[in-house]
Amino acid sequence: MSAPSDFRKDFEILKSGEYIYFDNAATSQRPRQVLEAVTNFYNTANANPLRGLYDWSMAATDAYESARKAVADFIGADSTEEIIFTRNTTESLNLVAYSYGLENVHEGDEIVITVMEHHSNMLPWQMVAKKNGAKLIYLEPDEEGVISREEYTSKITDKTKIVAIGHVSNVFGVTNPVKEIAEYAHSKGAVVVVDGAQSAPHMAVDVKELGCDFFALSGHKMLAPMGIGALYGKRELLDNMQPFLRGGEMIEYVTREDATYAELPHKFEAGTVNAGDAVGLEAAIKYIQNVGFETIEAQEVKLTTLLMDGLAKMPYIKVYGSKDPKKHCGIVTFTMDGVHPHDLASVLNDDRVCIRAGHHCAQPLMQFIGAGSTARASVYFYNTEDEVKQFLDRLSKVREVMGYGA
Ligand code: PMP
Repeated sequence: MSAPSDFRKDFEILKSGEYIYFDNAATSQRPRQVLEAVTNFYNTANANPLRGLYDWSMAATDAYESARKAVADFIGADSTEEIIFTRNTTESLNLVAYSYGLENVHEGDEIVITVMEHHSNMLPWQMVAKKNGAKLIYLEPDEEGVISREEYTSKITDKTKIVAIGHVSNVFGVTNPVKEIAEYAHSKGAVVVVDGAQSAPHMAVDVKELGCDFFALSGHKMLAPMGIGALYGKRELLDNMQPFLRGGEMIEYVTREDATYAELPHKFEAGTVNAGDAVGLEAAIKYIQNVGFETIEAQEVKLTTLLMDGLAKMPYIKVYGSKDPKKHCGIVTFTMDGVHPHDLASVLNDDRVCIRAGHHCAQPLMQFIGAGSTARASVYFYNTEDEVKQFLDRLSKVREVMGYGA
């Protein structure tokens, strides 16, 4: 098994060690192998995929479809027809809301989500509920970010048509009991949509084991370029859905009045596809598999433990979510007494430390925990213990800078 430090050399941006990058939940860094794969695609196979009958276009098509197979295998999908490339998790979830939700949710029905959802898994369902006269029901977590069985069994009912839930919260880092919730939701006849933006980079995902009907992920949070994401959907559901966007090679036959659509998955991929970044996503998947989820999880737990132990020694810091570092998926959200998170992030930026401050695209959760905004440090496998120590040291000086004295 390789050590996490063996991989750091592949990340050019981290090489100088000048910056401490602790905003991995927002976007990860990309290794040389991913960037080279993208460059190689454009240098050797650049043509419009899925259209041309000449070598370059066919090579581009092969590269694109190979990336689809890599995604299918990565998340345990039965077939490549169940994998649709999108720009990101947000687009994947909107696709489900527009193409499945608007058609299948009716007046008086209910959609169940959690108050922890990222806006990307909330606003599309608000839209469906409003347009179709359905009710949006919120599951609420306890202090540690846990959704209890009682909570979901009391709110998922025969009226529930869709349960949309984040696999891992981008604020608490908690992993939701998706498998149990999916089982229960299915027993009530609901369809289960999982936002996997924060889980796919950090843990082995098997969509069949999870039992979900849809699963969305973003490449840019898992070492791939920005602008490529994926949606898994069960074939029988995708088959019965209308396209989300129309135009380009997603058709079978077009007349002046009407059109029939291509087979899965191309029915959902309108316009010129992002083959270059799909190739980057395949390289990212290979890279992650080479590092191994065991190594990734072990390093994240080690760093999160060090981080939370250090924060616990600062009485003016409040950490949100579980007290157990193993239940944070590398994400630690906190506030500092008397210092606004934006000021905190700015002071840390002067020390070349990158963290996130704000509402984390989860405003209803901020309202629920009674914080206007929070600070969030999030680590990935290429971060080091030394970086955590430096971070804690710099953090401990922030209140001094803000005029609180030593
Ligand atoms: N869901 C969760 C849980 C997220 O953390 C994010 C990214 N912050 C998203 C959805 C949206 O991802 P993207 O911006 O890549 O669409």
